[in-house]
Amino acid sequence: MALRKVLWAALLIVISGLALAKTAEAPAPVFSTAMGKEKIPILMYHKVSPYIHHGGIGLRVTPDNFECQMKYLYERGYKTITLNQLFDFWDRGESPPPRTFILTLDDGYEDNYLFAFPILKKYGFTATVFLVYDHIGGYNVWDIRRETQPHIKLLSWQQIKEMQAYGISFQSHTLSHPSLTTVDPQIAETEIRLSKIQLEQALGAPVNFLAYPYGRSNKNIEKMARAAGYKAALSTAFGKNDINTNRFRLKRLGIRGNTDLDDFARLVER
Ligand SMILES: [Zn+2]
Repeated sequence: MALRKVLWAALLIVISGLALAKTAEAPAPVFSTAMGKEKIPILMYHKVSPYIHHGGIGLRVTPDNFECQMKYLYERGYKTITLNQLFDFWDRGESPPPRTFILTLDDGYEDNYLFAFPILKKYGFTATVFLVYDHIGGYNVWDIRRETQPHIKLLSWQQIKEMQAYGISFQSHTLSHPSLTTVDPQIAETEIRLSKIQLEQALGAPVNFLAYPYGRSNKNIEKMARAAGYKAALSTAFGKNDINTNRFRLKRLGIRGNTDLDDFARLVER
């Protein structure tokens, strides 16, 4: 009799163990919402600098304004993800959680390290910086030649490595920042393909994203980017993105030096 009780108890333990194992195998809860329909803001910055001689309010946001904007997002529970993480969600047909944003900085100015990086660290945010490979450690010669912007120092490899170690992602903004739609297609193809290969070697990390210089692309350029192995490419077209957005024409919210906090809040929240 006693033996039968022991056997029953043993059987019950085995059954409940199996039930637990089954529960553990159930798919883990995901944070996704609305089957990839959540609109994701990708903020676009260039220079974060207090120096007036570093350029006008089109491309230059002061560190004070940048900090106010990051503080605003932090206090409302916003979190950053990288572009790679965004595509991990979308590839599973899901959306990142609400209040997720992506922060991008184009051209790779040294001020990104000097002024933006300490603020990003303070709020625990990450960012993606688009580098112009041939001019890393040099100057924005593409602007100087066109006489459209002042002479500004770009990030050095040492600064890039330090930011990368923290978790800042570095991606391609081509080799020399040409207007891809107006240069010879063969040059455009080389700029797109070679910048990916060179950056990957130097960073020791995959380069999956391209930001088109001046935001310019067309069907042919987008085809080249896809063929070169990029997962996606970013334009400067205004708007947010969801799973159905053209992956080779992702939209961004350009933040300018004269974007005040009310404008900023409206851009991100609406
Ligand atoms: Zn640029």
